[in-house]
Amino acid sequence: MTTESEVEGTADEPCDEATRPQQPGELVFTPRRRAKPPVHLADLTLAQRREQVIALGLPGYRAEQVSKHYFARLSSDPSTWTDVPAAARQVMAQALTPTLLTQTRRISCDADTTVKYLWRLFDGAMVESVLMRYPKRTTMCISSQAGCGMNCPFCATGQAGLTRNLSTAEIVAQVVAGAAELADGVIPGGPGRVGNVVFMGMGEPLANYRATLAAVRRIISPAPEGLGISARGVTVSTVGLAPRMRELAGEGIPLTLALSLHAPDDELRDELVPVNNRWPVAEVLDAAWEYADRTHRRVSIEYALIRQVNDQPWRADLLASLLQGHLVHVNLIPLNPTPGSKWTASDPGVEAEFVRRLRSGGVAVTVRDTRGREIDGACGQLAAAE
Ligand code: SAH
Repeated sequence: MTTESEVEGTADEPCDEATRPQQPGELVFTPRRRAKPPVHLADLTLAQRREQVIALGLPGYRAEQVSKHYFARLSSDPSTWTDVPAAARQVMAQALTPTLLTQTRRISCDADTTVKYLWRLFDGAMVESVLMRYPKRTTMCISSQAGCGMNCPFCATGQAGLTRNLSTAEIVAQVVAGAAELADGVIPGGPGRVGNVVFMGMGEPLANYRATLAAVRRIISPAPEGLGISARGVTVSTVGLAPRMRELAGEGIPLTLALSLHAPDDELRDELVPVNNRWPVAEVLDAAWEYADRTHRRVSIEYALIRQVNDQPWRADLLASLLQGHLVHVNLIPLNPTPGSKWTASDPGVEAEFVRRLRSGGVAVTVRDTRGREIDGACGQLAAAE
């Protein structure tokens, strides 16, 4: 039987206050331990699932069978596991496929090809994910944390703070849920497959490093170990936790790293992405170049254009000069204003000039489409409204 501490990639420890030696007359302080999400087969490697199944008194190959149902057939409903004896189904479902996500809202737009899901987790925490179907590919945008502790002032999730890290299986289950709807033909365009996964929902994935990395492994491993989505289709987006970016570079996984830069100068970035106070522009870019050098993957620089905040021509020029000559691509995002915010998207002419200056500086750039605006597509807006 796999004990919890051996489970690969369960949520990092919650930040419990350290126990202090008791002073005479002082109240005893007991650190509050949060209950953990139930262990699910997606938390475990295939070898660990086998151990688990054997501990239940069942033959080890049942682990492969259930894994296939979950990752290849996208079914956690034991009544469809017809190759498993009826008596074993409930036992295995209880131990390996407990319900992790309960859908509380499902909103669609773009002729139902963009779908936003709001999920309630076992402890009442809420997370969002978004499915976006394009003519040639489907992308799942998923959350790595309930809430976020990075406090970026333009982001809806940042305003509410961090509730907790998600477990590996809670992250993977978001992809599985979208993949199941797509395979079942629920999304217009006929049955399809998820080809891209972006960690651009709620949370800072590199602040939940272990669970995120294990989730990536599950997403890219072929069935029955995992979902078998190409690593090249997976993007992890970060505010720029430089040491974790370097660590990720060493994992040997050819996924895309996106760096949310949003400003080329420390003075402004300190405000827009407060973690810049700890790892400033020069240092995060250095970590990004290390990532590109070691993985040969083009780093994506995310830049939300905010009217009269970070969209000046001189900032475009400064950004171009910082990025020139590197394996990099800029993704400009028209700001999706959050309720009550003083900020809004740049004027189209200003945006076009920003693009032009980056291009003439020799930097590849695209402007991200604005899918899902009508359904509060900007990360965190749905959960905030709830
Ligand atoms: N914490 C990670 C991933 C989640 S946010 C990160 O910051 O990269 C995914 C992307 O959406 C980030 O680039 C983030 O800066 C951007 N974003 C957040 N709020 C936004 C908004 N209101 N409008 C446009 N982009 C936004």
